[in-house]
Amino acid sequence: MKNIMQKRLAIFGSTGSIGTQALDVIRANPELFSAEVLTAQTNDTLLVEQALEFRPNVVVIGDESKYKKVKEALGHTDVKVFAGEQALAETAAMDCYDMMLAAIVGYAGLQPTLKAVENGKAIGLANKETLVVAGDIVMDLAIRHKAPVIPVDSEHSAIFQCMVGESFNPIEKIILTASGGPFRGRKPNFLVNVKRDHALQHPNWSMGAKITIDSATLMNKGLEMIEAKWLFNLKPERIQVVIHPQSIIHSMVQFEDGSIKAQMGLPDMKLPIQYAMAFPKRLKNNYPRFDFRKYEQLTFEEPDLRTFRNLALAIEALHKGGNLPCILNAANEIAVWAFLKNRIGFLDMMAVVEQAMQKVKFIEKPTLNDYLETDLDAREFAASLIKL
Ligand code: NAD
Ligand code: MG
Repeated sequence: MKNIMQKRLAIFGSTGSIGTQALDVIRANPELFSAEVLTAQTNDTLLVEQALEFRPNVVVIGDESKYKKVKEALGHTDVKVFAGEQALAETAAMDCYDMMLAAIVGYAGLQPTLKAVENGKAIGLANKETLVVAGDIVMDLAIRHKAPVIPVDSEHSAIFQCMVGESFNPIEKIILTASGGPFRGRKPNFLVNVKRDHALQHPNWSMGAKITIDSATLMNKGLEMIEAKWLFNLKPERIQVVIHPQSIIHSMVQFEDGSIKAQMGLPDMKLPIQYAMAFPKRLKNNYPRFDFRKYEQLTFEEPDLRTFRNLALAIEALHKGGNLPCILNAANEIAVWAFLKNRIGFLDMMAVVEQAMQKVKFIEKPTLNDYLETDLDAREFAASLIKL
């Protein structure tokens, strides 16, 4: 049932970890939200199942070879079915929704999000790679088209929540927390033998494969530092990372008087997802609550930048700017893909990123086209290293 009080959502990447949890939030709050667009790359079965339940205006299947199957399965409904990369971007420009939940993984999320921003849509941003690749362009467009960008990533949601009511108070520093992943405290002699199945076991969060590997190498935290720079318009030196293995404090903001605000809770992505969807309102729910009496201590430590080179590389990209974060991201996507296919080892991922950053042409003030070309060049270079 559709009513005018509902916020109409477009879930780009509806079959993924974030996408399915966003649908859980809609399912629990049908009077507040409707799903008008659902998209998936390959999982046609789940996409059809979701479409039959939520009856969106449009579904898009990225993999064009699956178009016929999806179209037939939804033939008896009035759901419009499109396929392919182009359709994804075109759908992002449609009038049938108010807010995009950008939950595609990787660089593929950039174009649809750009289209949504150009059309003044509100964005609930899970896809951090979009800002890593072209954060200056995305945020400039968002300001020009009055498109609010509300973070979904738990750390950025935490910072965003700490900033409510503080719009006139400058930030002295933000402190991004990191769990440290499954290999916290490990050294290269251990990491050299790590295999994908071990790296896919995250201690606190259940997420898609790519971000789980990024969490194990600490690249995820590096990408998040760059994401934070653009989201909150911060100088790199104001962004700090601390390892906090319990993942209870989701991040912190330190203001000019030295006061620090933290946002806390059990690790559950549904919270930042629903906060972005319902902002500025908080929605009542019955998810498990954090109990201080059950946690004897919350601990903090320095990240090990010598072992987890990816974080050091991302910090370098954060500071140097230009197209360097785009190079880092593209090489990392190829490296993670190759690691997941058992084609390269755990430490090789960091070597691939490092070499791409040294070899792919640096551009200080890139245009959007420069970013698109850089992405292709860096992918090609990384693939040649891995001999794909
Ligand atoms: P996932 O792999 O579980 O899901 C990815 C979704 O994107 C799927 O629906 C898939 O069909 C779609 N997709 C994949 N490749 C595509 C392509 N080439 N074109 C179009 N669609 C494509 O990933 P996830 O864990 O849900 O993560 C999604 C994004 O959210 C990532 O950028 C990730 O960094 C970010 N994020 C995730 C979490 C989490 O808890 N999972 C937390 C914070 C941020
Ligand atoms: Mg995060």
